[in-house]
Amino acid sequence: MSSARSEVPTQRGLEATSLTQVRTDSMALCPACGGRRLTSIAMTLTDGSPVDFTSCHTCEYKTWLQNGKALDIDVVLAKAQKHK
Ligand SMILES: [Zn+2]
Repeated sequence: MSSARSEVPTQRGLEATSLTQVRTDSMALCPACGGRRLTSIAMTLTDGSPVDFTSCHTCEYKTWLQNGKALDIDVVLAKAQKHK
């Protein structure tokens, strides 16, 4: 109970160690409701396009960004489909 050791959890910060990262960006505001409860997930679509998926916990607004530009939902769906 009286261990003198103080173990500091290792924090790798923003180091990209996995394909999918979940982060909350406190600077971002939801464009739909102005809320701050946004969750951004970096993901890769089926066609290999890296995108940032952002969803709002307050109003369920969702958006996809590729290279900082918003993608139309139809484009996202098209990219997410496997081509036959
Ligand atoms: Zn919202």
